[in-house]
Amino acid sequence: MNTRSPADLLAADRAHVWHPYSAMGSGLPVFPVASASGVRLRLEDGRELIDGMSSWWCAIHGYNHQAMNRALETQLQSMAHVMFGGLTHRPAVELALKLVELAPAPLQTVFFADSGSVAVEVALKMAIQYWHARGQPGKQRFLTLRNGYHGDTLGAMSVCDPVTGMHGLFSEVLTRQFFVEAPACRFGEPCTDADIAPLEDQLSQHQGEIAALILEPIVQGAGGMRFYSADYLRRTRALCDRYGVLLILDEIATGFGRTGRLFACEHAGITPDILCIGKALTGGYLTLAATLTTEAVSGAISSGNPGLFMHGPTFMANPLACIAALTSIRLLLESPWQERIAAIEAGLKTGLEPCRAMPQVADVRVLGAIGVVELKQPVEMATIQPRFVEAGVWVRPFGRLVYLMPPYVIGQGDLKSLTAAVVSVVAGL
Ligand SMILES: *Cc1c(COP(=O)(O)O)cnc(C)c1O
Repeated sequence: MNTRSPADLLAADRAHVWHPYSAMGSGLPVFPVASASGVRLRLEDGRELIDGMSSWWCAIHGYNHQAMNRALETQLQSMAHVMFGGLTHRPAVELALKLVELAPAPLQTVFFADSGSVAVEVALKMAIQYWHARGQPGKQRFLTLRNGYHGDTLGAMSVCDPVTGMHGLFSEVLTRQFFVEAPACRFGEPCTDADIAPLEDQLSQHQGEIAALILEPIVQGAGGMRFYSADYLRRTRALCDRYGVLLILDEIATGFGRTGRLFACEHAGITPDILCIGKALTGGYLTLAATLTTEAVSGAISSGNPGLFMHGPTFMANPLACIAALTSIRLLLESPWQERIAAIEAGLKTGLEPCRAMPQVADVRVLGAIGVVELKQPVEMATIQPRFVEAGVWVRPFGRLVYLMPPYVIGQGDLKSLTAAVVSVVAGL
């Protein structure tokens, strides 16, 4: 395996391996990584890149972390995996207790899933089963926001933005859900009656069909990297209660500190009926997600017909993944994470500010450890990606968005190099 040359490796990759959201034979560059440590990715050719992506929100402590490695090595000595039907184990129970302690009350039941998309599927199914058990089987559809992203499986896709999610392509299989425009009120701004009116209209017209409202709290991630008003989120909670609709919050991207709070819903001081977490849950080590709910929801489902929750992934509560999550959460909580994220926020604001004056830039915005430069035109991946690599950083733009979300452990010097690379690459567009 180690004898294949980097050139052969790339040729085989090109011939046989499909990458995320890509075409076979596109010829777009992919860069082979040999190892990763701290905030650096080392390529096969020896070049080192400062990581600006945390491997899509996950690697909050950086790579090859000694405490994470040791915890996994120790767990491996006792068991890598056992099925979760009829069996349980310490890693799963300890993790569930920790998640219940950290998540806002009264979320207290944990369903483990193996990826974010599956956690969203589970949340949607919980909402449908809840209303079925409550004698309202007509409530099987969902209300959501445009520009949202909730994953790539069919149920999750049905609540993703219809345009970027290509709903036309899947029109026969995707359930038609109810959509409202993404909130225009930005983070830090109040939410006016006019801002919330479209959501209330949909709820009042379709409450008999809507099982739940699902949204990403505060930050709409892959659907546009937009930051919206906490006041809007607060009002959605009140409206869900008024119209008898559950509230599902998808914190798969925002959970575990990224926005400056442990969970983004804390900006609004609200609790959902169902909460999805994933991504940074295991510190970027293994795939694991979870769907948390209240006793009201789990109790109704468990006492209704059929009296069971109809889901059970093969790798549910994988012990290695649970240990990774427990260790990652302990490292996070023992670290000065609030100060670190505040320092990253300040560094991103100063570092990206020069982009604001550039004619090709539509907006620059920063929240917590997320920095976004929104362009007026979509980027050319074939040209922009190599430029970032030549600049010594790993930044992966999409559409009109060049964005940074570095590991929380990044130092100010590396953060300056990241933002300087963004400024110079964007300036050259
Ligand atoms: C990434 C993401 C998902 C999907 O998670 P996967 O682990 O990729 O399936 C769902 N919702 C949000 C908000 C995400 O950012």
